Amino acid sequence: MKIGFIGLGIMGSRMAANLQKGGHSLVVFNRTREKADSLVAAGARWGNSPAVLAPQVEIVFTMLAHPDAVEEAALGQEGFLSQLAPGQIWIDCSTVNPSFSKKMAAEAEAQGIRFLGAPVSGSKGMAASAKLTFLVGGAASVLEACRPLLECMGNKIIHCGGPGTGASLKIVMNQLLGTVMAAFSEGLVLGESLKLSREVLFEALLGGPAAAPFLSVKRERIEKGDYAHADFPLQWLQKDLHLAIVSANETGVSMPVTNAAKEIYRSAIQEGHGEEDFSAIYDYLAHKSAVKTLRADEELQPSDATSRGSDSLKTDKEAYTSNEHYN
Ligand code: NAP
Repeated sequence: MKIGFIGLGIMGSRMAANLQKGGHSLVVFNRTREKADSLVAAGARWGNSPAVLAPQVEIVFTMLAHPDAVEEAALGQEGFLSQLAPGQIWIDCSTVNPSFSKKMAAEAEAQGIRFLGAPVSGSKGMAASAKLTFLVGGAASVLEACRPLLECMGNKIIHCGGPGTGASLKIVMNQLLGTVMAAFSEGLVLGESLKLSREVLFEALLGGPAAAPFLSVKRERIEKGDYAHADFPLQWLQKDLHLAIVSANETGVSMPVTNAAKEIYRSAIQEGHGEEDFSAIYDYLAHKSAVKTLRADEELQPSDATSRGSDSLKTDKEAYTSNEHYN
């Protein structure tokens, strides 16, 4: 099948590669062209713009950062929607808010285009190994027409209902992801301030009833202080918390916990953590409370050791694993 793929970031590049491995021919577009290089080297055609890409394909996938980027790709001056022929299909896999997804479904329908909102659950590794879960909102007949393509990229498909419902489920999932990551990080900081070692905290909490399973995957990043090469950029999780609040405003639901978490992630972005993995929220909170954390690019300075008085002869590793504090 001839497939157009727009948005070749962390997720989109890996999803497109799996469509390519599945034997489909791709026309690709991304704002930053270099991210298409490996797909083009493997046989994909470069689309030049969403509008140029559309007439060359039977179906268009979008996997973009946020609603504004999706709207621009679909309806902007160089947008693809008006260039598709009636009956063709657009699948938006980006994480957007439900009302926006419904609006895109209506725009597509007005032009005779069949639309699915199909955001995904699963991160970089699962995108690479084609183990994503698709959360689909839209007509069952369109889903059945596209199922083999989704199965090139994922191993589970949940049909949530009509337009916007896939986005609804995704927003609930990420509301949990964001608030739980922030709450766990705050708990670690509290524990360390009470002189519990981080190792004891991880061993006691992870795998236990109070910690969500995904937190175990973040242990290594936190231990190493390595948040580079994000699995999921912190700025997009903050975006999703914002979209959860937009959705709650629309339905009249109160979201005090999510509002607080959203602001914490906002401050972390302002302090330069936006492109890091979202587990960097721990690093942000720890520094805010002056709990010393080890980052991949940091080395303990002799002056740091001196300032800790009688324990100053401890090695860096000992110091960090025993969680010295400077406050
Ligand atoms: P990413 O690597 O930052 O990719 C974002 C994509 O959106 C890139 O193609 C980027 O183009 C494009 N983009 C951003 N702003 C744009 C703009 N103003 N105009 C045009 N294009 C723009 O992030 P990602 O992790 O792949 O995320 C993509 C989507 O998947 C997001 O909605 C995210 O919430 C969702 N998601 C991510 C994960 C995950 O674990 N990473 C999991 C599930 C869902 P450039 O390359 O030019 O920047």
